[in-house]
Amino acid sequence: MNTSDGERVRAVLDWEGFSETLTEDDADILGILACSVRQKPIDKVYNKIAEWNRAKNHRNLITFISGCVLPADRKKFLKLFDFVFPMSELNQLPEMIRGYGVATPASLKLQGNSPILPNNENIFSLWNIRPKYSSGFEAYVPIQNGCDKMCTFCAVPYTRGREVSRPSAEILDEVEQLVKQGYKAITLLGQNVNSYGLDKPNDEISFAELLEKIGWLGDSSHEEFWVYFTSPHPSDMDPKVFEVIAQHRCLAKQIHLPLQSGDEKLLIRMNRRHDVETYRELVTKLRATLPQATLFTDIIVGFCGETEEQFQNTVEAFKEFRFNMAYIAQYSPRPGAASHRWDDDVPINIKKERHLRLTEVLKRISLKHNLKQVGTTVKVLVTGTEQRTPYLTGYTEGRLVTRILATEGSLIGKIITVKIITANELSLAGEPLLVTTAITA
Ligand code: SF4
Repeated sequence: MNTSDGERVRAVLDWEGFSETLTEDDADILGILACSVRQKPIDKVYNKIAEWNRAKNHRNLITFISGCVLPADRKKFLKLFDFVFPMSELNQLPEMIRGYGVATPASLKLQGNSPILPNNENIFSLWNIRPKYSSGFEAYVPIQNGCDKMCTFCAVPYTRGREVSRPSAEILDEVEQLVKQGYKAITLLGQNVNSYGLDKPNDEISFAELLEKIGWLGDSSHEEFWVYFTSPHPSDMDPKVFEVIAQHRCLAKQIHLPLQSGDEKLLIRMNRRHDVETYRELVTKLRATLPQATLFTDIIVGFCGETEEQFQNTVEAFKEFRFNMAYIAQYSPRPGAASHRWDDDVPINIKKERHLRLTEVLKRISLKHNLKQVGTTVKVLVTGTEQRTPYLTGYTEGRLVTRILATEGSLIGKIITVKIITANELSLAGEPLLVTTAITA
């Protein structure tokens, strides 16, 4: 979400005549899009602003902070940053800069095209700002902001507010433009994407209907591209979503469905509003409708009061649901979240140990799955080159990381066919067969 927000900040600053500098030392304006999911990133913010405020002794510098900021942090940041604003007020950033009294490009008369999409009267709303995408083939499209779920470990509802859905016409327009520009991977973004439209029951379509419209767009296009979404919530997951994905080739056969814990009591304590049985029913439906789909999840280990037995229930859930990938976090209390008031009573060494044990289970499951891909041919979106070798890297439609035994930089940004020749716990490797730039409708 911060990447996507950052692309809109970049567009606004670009329009105001600023250009990106290579180092902070050369910048006239420096800003941070904060993440309040954990305390560590917020601690880094305090270090950074102290450094920037020292730099102000020697030069003109404007500082701002936006993104996910808790009310308590906001109060402190107001004394440290020049501007503190929610992303929904990004449109006011140019005025804030102009009013600051420092000569900046923003005070000049500007030429060129506005980044604001022309088809909406409310041209300054955040979502209507045409972003400066940071990639030429992968893009994020926000569809929803905020969350009504109130999980006890999470501060998002207090930083991003209640759920608000973006008008579907705007979403479809942005996706269509991206497809026309040749984008290959488009990710629909939100804190709780599959509750899309529930805040406007009489005026908006449902998430399944939104996906269906995007699916039709893909069906009528000659381009090959994949549409993902993150993150959905199990309690709002309509099985119709799986049926829609099955019917349209552009809707990626990959589902990220956060489980957080495999223990019923912990799920209640987390206020997750779903139980393991509900999750099981969803996975059963998913496997029946989309047998080829990969399944990713999010898990917290060491949540307040988690016993060894409760942790074992999560291990069993991993074995049962056979996740291809899991983002495993060791619990840490976040000020602002309900669980911050509770005893963080699982020792750090136990959290680390459970993290390692669960990772080992995940690796065994994903290795088994990945080895089955050896000998098959798969489509891979080439995203770049490996850090330490000249070989290309990318991912399959199911978002499995794939090493490509080729070095042609011209393949970056393309979907190609790859024959898988080896696999390990974390990735596949194969040889390219043929470049796929277009398909027949
Ligand atoms: Fe946070 Fe829960 Fe909402 Fe996800 S669903 S953003 S974890 S409150």
